[in-house]
Amino acid sequence: EERKRKVGAVIEDVERTLSTPTALLRGIADAMVTEMERGLRGDIHAAVKMLITYVDNLPTGNEQGLFYALDLGGTNFRVLRVQLGGKEKRVVRQQYNEVSIPPHLMVGTSTELFDFIAAALSKFVETEGDDFHLPKGRQRELGFTFSFPVNQTSISSGTLIKWTKGFSINGAIGEDVVSELSKAMERQGLDMKVTALVNDTVGTLAGGRYVDNDVVAAIILGTGTNAAYVEHANAIAKWTGLLPKSGNMVINTEWGSFKSEKLPLSEFDKAMDFESLNPGEQIYEKMISGMYLGEIVRRILLKLAHDASLFGDVVPPKLEQPFVLRTPDMSAMHHDSSHDLNIVGVKLKDIVGVADTSLEVRYIARHICDIVAERAARLAAAGIFGILKKLGRDKLPRGGGKMPRTSIALDGGLYEHYKKFSSCLESTLTDLLGEDVSSSVVTKLANDGSGIGAALLAASHSQYA
Ligand code: ADP
Ligand code: MG
Repeated sequence: EERKRKVGAVIEDVERTLSTPTALLRGIADAMVTEMERGLRGDIHAAVKMLITYVDNLPTGNEQGLFYALDLGGTNFRVLRVQLGGKEKRVVRQQYNEVSIPPHLMVGTSTELFDFIAAALSKFVETEGDDFHLPKGRQRELGFTFSFPVNQTSISSGTLIKWTKGFSINGAIGEDVVSELSKAMERQGLDMKVTALVNDTVGTLAGGRYVDNDVVAAIILGTGTNAAYVEHANAIAKWTGLLPKSGNMVINTEWGSFKSEKLPLSEFDKAMDFESLNPGEQIYEKMISGMYLGEIVRRILLKLAHDASLFGDVVPPKLEQPFVLRTPDMSAMHHDSSHDLNIVGVKLKDIVGVADTSLEVRYIARHICDIVAERAARLAAAGIFGILKKLGRDKLPRGGGKMPRTSIALDGGLYEHYKKFSSCLESTLTDLLGEDVSSSVVTKLANDGSGIGAALLAASHSQYA
């Protein structure tokens, strides 16, 4: 009984500190807009960097030819080739291959990482069949999706600002990632030119626009989180170059680094941040994205074990191990709707090492997953609402005109596979926008839009175009 009382008290405390009432979300969205504006002014203290991407035109559908793309940014990297057939034929053929990145390469040297990637790319190019056509005498061209913050110096060059998402490679910061990749391709004897360097959000935006003209923003919810959107070039105070003809410029917000006193950090967030590879950084990302959600759940379960003997008198040693509980496992527990919560039981046994958990303990574990996922989804929805506010698409037009249709492309394993997360995100966004506005806002999964998007941008920036 004493134990039950303690468990109840800890859970109540967790519910309170991780709660995100709608009024709080509105405040967070406003803070996001404020930081976006500071970023566009070039304020070095802005919480979001608002990086200029040099993408001032999105795909039109006219792109033609054979193009490659390479997507590096998380646990896997993907290589892709696509034969584009122009307005009528569109994507004629595409093939891809996915390779997981050996963990030691994520914390090794930049040469090792790029050599590994170039080798995989080179192998992939060798498998190019006769159904792909490169005009005689032409060099193959590649769109490089690199999902880390980059100070872009042109559409096809940029220097790494910092690593995120568990990558930590010495000596790469400040280096031009395209030249690193190009040198590695040369070492492989691979003759290929990088004509576009894009963030995955920008690739997803481009891929999304290719299939839907009303796409104005793209959000990634995977290992990390980030967003890109189409801004009016004249609203970018820090832009000193000529205004692009289109009048537009895609901005890579790097919103994962958002922080604000409006963001309520719990003791679990603070401890996880403190022990992370990048303390004090990527605070919003650490509350939302797939790399971290399971770990937050683990920390809460650990507190329940410590303070309220949730798993009996001894704290399960496995539960002490950072990152043992991965977000896909959390998702599996959360979606368990069986009467005896069998999946939760199996996960607790396999991951935490406690056999024979009671139904009550399983319910509690599932409930913790629910709390953490719901907070993440609601915070992500607040960010999207912030972007819609920045675009002026959060309310009906003044004077009663017709509401323009707004599409948002979303991608990433968290959004794609964690159904309770994505449905909570969507319902929260509807709630924030209100019924009238939300009926003209569409969110859609742009499955691997970033690969195709990078290839499309490689095409529109081809040396032969
Ligand atoms: P990345 O972000 O690394 O480029 P993805 O977009 O494929 O790659 O996202 C992978 C991430 O998505 C994983 O790190 C994991 O956190 C999350 N994820 C994958 N599958 C699931 C799942 N079934 N449930 C919840 N999260 C998942
Ligand atoms: Mg990705």
